[in-house]
Amino acid sequence: MRFDATKRVLVTGGAGFLGSHLCERLVEDGHDVLCVDNFYTGSKRNVAHLLDHPRFELMRHDVTFPLYVEVDEIYNLACPASPIHYQHDPVQTTKTSVHGAINMLGLAKRVGAKILQASTSEVYGDPEEHPQTENYWGRVNPIGIRSCYDEGKRCAETLFFDYHRQNGLRIKVARIFNTYGPRMHPNDGRVVSNFIMQALRGDALTIQGDGSQTRSFCYVDDLIEGLVRMMSTPDECTGPINVGSGFEFTMLELAQKVIALTGSSSELAFGPLPQDDPAQRRPDLTLARANLDWEAKTPLDEGLNRTIEYFKGL
Ligand code: NAD
Ligand code: UDP
Ligand code: UDP
Repeated sequence: MRFDATKRVLVTGGAGFLGSHLCERLVEDGHDVLCVDNFYTGSKRNVAHLLDHPRFELMRHDVTFPLYVEVDEIYNLACPASPIHYQHDPVQTTKTSVHGAINMLGLAKRVGAKILQASTSEVYGDPEEHPQTENYWGRVNPIGIRSCYDEGKRCAETLFFDYHRQNGLRIKVARIFNTYGPRMHPNDGRVVSNFIMQALRGDALTIQGDGSQTRSFCYVDDLIEGLVRMMSTPDECTGPINVGSGFEFTMLELAQKVIALTGSSSELAFGPLPQDDPAQRRPDLTLARANLDWEAKTPLDEGLNRTIEYFKGL
């Protein structure tokens, strides 16, 4: 029995882009945070400002191996998220999603912890239903170059729901849509970081395809608020719940906006569209509004400006 209101929270992938913001938020909220990361795509630099905090602890560990610690809540974020990184070692990507989920679920089962999975809009694949509701089962290629990530995340969702049904685990599955902000990896090939870096250098912005494909980008602080709210929902609220922004735009519009906000003279360079690149993506946010009383608030211009400032400082 513990008499302390402080929660012991494990964040896997805590030294990554989203994980580092989540660790920061949880420490600020007064929790005891254990950040576990193998630094595959994340870095100590992302959490350097937390290292001296008495309620923060950093552990180098790969979640595909068992982990024995005592915690009250687990946010399972470990997994490379950008196509370049997750396609670099696709077998390891699937192992991280699947073996990582098994180990973290086994840990949650042993200690009775609540566990949240950072799932993804990629479970919908290249969707025919638009916007995507949580009931949509998706259109995913099982053998393509994105499959290690998409199918790994889908299998992780299966494991979460089977541990819930079979072992009564308290689970939360959040389907995260594209998120951007400070501490994105500058070279991970994602569109926001690419465009900003290219605009700041005066290089051409690389548009894949004709730029008519859409995404709905959420600013990181809004997303983290959504995850924290989801963790505190009643036990019957398991998800899956879409979290992200409902504001949809084309990649061409994004390129023009980044050029305008940076004041850059960069031009546009059109290249081929990668295999299985989804043509459109926007979350249906009805469940998030109803269950989390949440929606993304930061306007795109404001979020982009903060992100541009971060990249200028690198
Ligand atoms: P990221 O690559 O910055 O962070 C992932 C972190 O996981 C990194 O710190 C990495 O080193 C760590 N990691 C990878 N494999 C590991 C392993 N085997 N053991 C321990 N740590 C490991 O990516 P992110 O954007 O911060 O994404 C975090 C999570 O959110 C991921 O699970 C991702 O799939 C999910 N997600 C992100 C987005 C987005 O737009 N950023 C969208 C949907 C889902
Ligand atoms: N596990 C872990 N930490 C724990 C408890 C379990 O990493 O505190 C791992 C363990 O190595 C196992 C996995 O979680 O492979 C699944 O555990 P579970 O109890 O569900 O299955 P079992 O041990 O029966 O295979
Ligand atoms: N994209 C682009 N130029 C780039 C990087 C990406 O036009 O330099 C496109 C990419 O083809 C995709 C969209 O931007 O249609 C979002 O790509 P990202 O890798 O950021 O996210 P995801 O494809 O996983 O949604």
